[in-house]
Amino acid sequence: MRKNIVAGNWKMNLTLQEGIALAKDVNSRVSAISPKCEIVLGTPFTHITEVVKTVDAPKISVAAQNCANKVSGAYTGEVSAAMVKSTGAQYVILGHSERRAYYGETSETLKEKTDLALANGLLPIFCIGEVLEEREAGKHFDVVKQQIKEALFHLSAEAFGKIVLAYEPVWAIGTGKTASAAQAQEMHAVIRGLLKEQYGAEVADNCTILYGGSCNAGNAKELFSNPDVDGGLIGGASLKAEDFLAIISAF
Ligand code: PEP
Repeated sequence: MRKNIVAGNWKMNLTLQEGIALAKDVNSRVSAISPKCEIVLGTPFTHITEVVKTVDAPKISVAAQNCANKVSGAYTGEVSAAMVKSTGAQYVILGHSERRAYYGETSETLKEKTDLALANGLLPIFCIGEVLEEREAGKHFDVVKQQIKEALFHLSAEAFGKIVLAYEPVWAIGTGKTASAAQAQEMHAVIRGLLKEQYGAEVADNCTILYGGSCNAGNAKELFSNPDVDGGLIGGASLKAEDFLAIISAF
């Protein structure tokens, strides 16, 4: 049975003190309900250790938003998968469209990052998604399939079983334009079909596929009610405990 997850991506927002306050707030509100999904807080590297110490509600974990594609050594400014693991984080977000667009991340580097994350016991939340021109040209299914094949299909079925996918149409991220529930379901079903071809029905059925892109308290219920949408990767609406909790409560 696959898990439902609501994961927040704080991006480059909040000072350490603000991040701890938010984590505390989310933690106490989650403790007061019985969430029907796992909750992940995707914090800046600088915040992970303190946020890990702050949260103790049973279903909350912490994620980094990136890790290096090198093991260790002279890579100034980089943070390795082993370092992330040593903070107590359980997840790492990889391949976010902002990293692909602004930092030139390619399928080749993402393949390396995925391998290092898995080798160090981190669970990747691997992002894929098309830009608007690709959707308008009818290429969105091919683009997303290609992103998955190039970066992940070298993995064994066992290793792939640790991957969470996040379908995030780039045109919906931070724009207020959400994919319709039907568009999300359609893409998620195509992705699950691809996983079935490559790894078989069991791996495909067990893979958690999140939707991301302007998901909020108003649209989460409709999005999550689709059979192949197993939760959300949430940017803007993860920065306020009340908004984030409303999304968690959509399950
Ligand atoms: C994201 O950055 O992963 C995201 C989904 O952002 P937003 O919810 O703000 O669109």
